[in-house]
Amino acid sequence: MEILEKVKTRVYKFGNKTADGNSKMKNLLGGKGANLAEMSSLGIPVPPGFTITTEVCTEYNTLGKENVVELIKDELEESIANIETLMGSKFGDKTNPLLVSVRSGARVSMPGMMDTVLNLGINDEVVQGLAKKTNNEQFAWDSYRRFIQMYGGVVLGMKPASKEDIDPFEEIMEHLKHKRGIKLDTEFSVQDLKDLVYDFKEAVKKRTGHNFPTDPWDQLWGAIIAVFNSWNGDRAVYYRTMHGYPADWGTAVNVQAMVYGNMGENSGTGVCFTRDAGTGENVFNGEYLINAQGEDVVAGVRTPQQITHLGSQRWAELAKIEEEDRLKNYPSLEELMPSIFEELNTYQDVLEKHYRDMQDMEFTIQDGKLWILQTRNGKRTGAAMVKIAMDLLKEGMIDEKETLLRIEPNKLDELLHPIFDPDALKRSQVIAQGLPASPGAATGKIVFFADEAAKFKNSILVRIETSPEDLEGMNIAKGILTARGGMTSHAAVVARGMGKCCVSGAGALKINYKTRTLTVDGHEYHEGDWISLNGSTGNIFEGKVATMEPELSGEFAELMTLTDKYGQMKVRTNADTPKDAKVARNFGAQGIGLTRTEHMFFEVDRIKAMREMILADTVKGRKQALEDLLPMQRSDFEGIFEAMEGLAVTIRLLDPPLHEFVPHQLATQKELAEDMHISLQAVKNKVAELEEFNPMLGHRGCRLGNTYPEITEMQTRAIIEAALNLKARGIKSKPEIMIPLVGTVKEFEAQEQIIRRTADVIFEERNDSIDYLVGTMIEVPRAALMADLIAEKADFFSFGTNDLTQMTFGYSRDDVGKFLPVYYEKGILKVDPFEVLDKEGVGQLVRLGTDRGRSSKPNLKIGICGEHGGEPSSIEFCYNLGMDYVSCSPYRVPIARLVSAQAAIKSTM
Ligand code: PEP
Ligand code: MG
Repeated sequence: MEILEKVKTRVYKFGNKTADGNSKMKNLLGGKGANLAEMSSLGIPVPPGFTITTEVCTEYNTLGKENVVELIKDELEESIANIETLMGSKFGDKTNPLLVSVRSGARVSMPGMMDTVLNLGINDEVVQGLAKKTNNEQFAWDSYRRFIQMYGGVVLGMKPASKEDIDPFEEIMEHLKHKRGIKLDTEFSVQDLKDLVYDFKEAVKKRTGHNFPTDPWDQLWGAIIAVFNSWNGDRAVYYRTMHGYPADWGTAVNVQAMVYGNMGENSGTGVCFTRDAGTGENVFNGEYLINAQGEDVVAGVRTPQQITHLGSQRWAELAKIEEEDRLKNYPSLEELMPSIFEELNTYQDVLEKHYRDMQDMEFTIQDGKLWILQTRNGKRTGAAMVKIAMDLLKEGMIDEKETLLRIEPNKLDELLHPIFDPDALKRSQVIAQGLPASPGAATGKIVFFADEAAKFKNSILVRIETSPEDLEGMNIAKGILTARGGMTSHAAVVARGMGKCCVSGAGALKINYKTRTLTVDGHEYHEGDWISLNGSTGNIFEGKVATMEPELSGEFAELMTLTDKYGQMKVRTNADTPKDAKVARNFGAQGIGLTRTEHMFFEVDRIKAMREMILADTVKGRKQALEDLLPMQRSDFEGIFEAMEGLAVTIRLLDPPLHEFVPHQLATQKELAEDMHISLQAVKNKVAELEEFNPMLGHRGCRLGNTYPEITEMQTRAIIEAALNLKARGIKSKPEIMIPLVGTVKEFEAQEQIIRRTADVIFEERNDSIDYLVGTMIEVPRAALMADLIAEKADFFSFGTNDLTQMTFGYSRDDVGKFLPVYYEKGILKVDPFEVLDKEGVGQLVRLGTDRGRSSKPNLKIGICGEHGGEPSSIEFCYNLGMDYVSCSPYRVPIARLVSAQAAIKSTM
């Protein structure tokens, strides 16, 4: 058994254009190890090394250190010997030493799980040899100092003693800097570095009770075991649990020869991209520094230089640097080291073609020799993502399906809303964070009341929470910020519909309406002060941050055409106005999946009639007020039908509790009393009477239409007459009347009767008719359970997953922001179920409702109009259930079109 176990390969070597592994072996070698092996086989010069497999990590967890050392000792020694041969140096040698790096590498990237240990294999004697070999004492002692610091922290647990303390090594360095009157690490003299090494080792002895390990092999085993242990460290366990990665995956360990970019003027280091990560332009670009180490490029200690000649010229132009100065002080790598540049240029081409995607590479030049340290698919902006994918398609590197799958749906959002100027952003300060409720960038002056939104040309409406009464002000404001509310709070839903930037649920904000102040972290902001919001990240900035309009590039349009070739499930939009409908049509919406009629009642000229209707004590009084509303509703619907040019339009009958429509402020109550010639007390009584304990579970939805049939009659009349009026003008329309909050078949039937009866009356009056459908929302759990019976009556279903989520979880959608952060922190919830459909739980009801509905009516038209209709993973779920369409806010239509195509492609793979 033991012999058999030993036969298995546990250590995979790479280097000198060969490798035991390849990029397909990510599960065994981890992502980093697999890519290093692949690069080596491709003939790319990677510093030689080896990967200890993820299986060894798992074996370590069951067998323990002694047994695992025994298992891999021979292979490890042989692999180190291989590096020694390839590098012409020896591990632990006093005159010609080989130093190595040790890094973790799981099959998926787990950022921050474990730090790297560099320069391993150094001790008091080796450091002398290194100094002689490189003729650079400063470099040798600095490497030694860095090693003890890294090894001490990662392997020996030399962490800050408490939350308030700083890193023990940093403390020693700070002390010395202070004593010597210097600021930077680079200012240490050789003697300083020697002193630091001594003090570091003393600190280790004092804290751990042991001497710092001097034997390179002990150091190596220590680092390997530390990487294995890190797999079960708090950070990794938390990260794994959060992403659902199983514990038995384990991590690999990568050991590689160190190469140095800081060995003099013939050395350097840099980062490069095969295409422009900001714009997607197909130009090789990047930055480098002569005589420097990797961190120096990123840390910005010195101004990095450009790799290509073209890049260097562009950079100098922006930095206003004369050509002469540029050539002398900031030459490109292409100019300074032409043959190294040529070699690098070849590799970038090879790697991009090989991986068929834009690569982000790191390289080091050690004494005139180029080494590639890493390659990976480069991160990019939304605009670059689209351009690169479409360009790769045109270049024949990827096919259409792959092109569509390369697009990250949510990143398309960046292309559809105003964005902050990246330079301006760098200079801005984040004061707090909320939920990224509706993407985009907004900058403006603070107003606290919706009816004062027009007070400034650019305003940001800051509210504890918003209500339907705030609609007009929300429309006027450039952005909306609320202290309360989740991703489907009123503010969030309405803002997304308007394509307006919104940050919601920013709990750190203390808003005082009386003093008209907003306090964050003890700092007070007043009405009229500038603030800026990033609705894509939830960041709130102090002051004015410049924004710019996004450009919808040619590639974006091409991409959208491609989505239609593969997408099968339709994409509709949630739109309440002709303007929204037009925006959505421009983005390719194939119909309206939800028009919330209540939003129309809040406009100034209508709210009065609406309030009169609610306050009326008799059917007659109600009918009179409704008559005033009829022409307005009719013209709204005409506008929407016209904008949709014959595409299906689903109009939902009145849904919210009436309490939302009545005035709550004394002044407005008085006004209403005067207008209606009734007493203030009568108004107050009615407002009190409408108050409910749980308005979301109260007198709303079809319960309204069933208790006040005249409302349903008026709305039906407005819809049908609008369609007939358009017909008379030669314009087609396809109304679908939708009944909200149905839970029993009888509730549906009662409403349907009123609708059909009203329509018949109108057809007779006008001696004309149109086709229309009567369907229902499925948003109450009981409706999903009774779907087979409801489907016998209804023409279509539309899943209202906002309410369905609310009622299935029992979480109020307007208060969820209060406990969500704690739930995330405790790992009780991973995501906001109002944003991402809970496929496991709420999804069961959606599946059941779909299946039962179609069991009694096989061709039943089914869609979704909850906010989830615009969320990628939820859209894919809907496709897999066989829905006919998803409906989402206008600005998410392109995303939904893309996901619809992606889901169809994935289902055939
Ligand atoms: C829903 O409940 O999912 C829905 C679309 O309706 P509303 O958000 O208006 O309640
Ligand atoms: Mg609803």
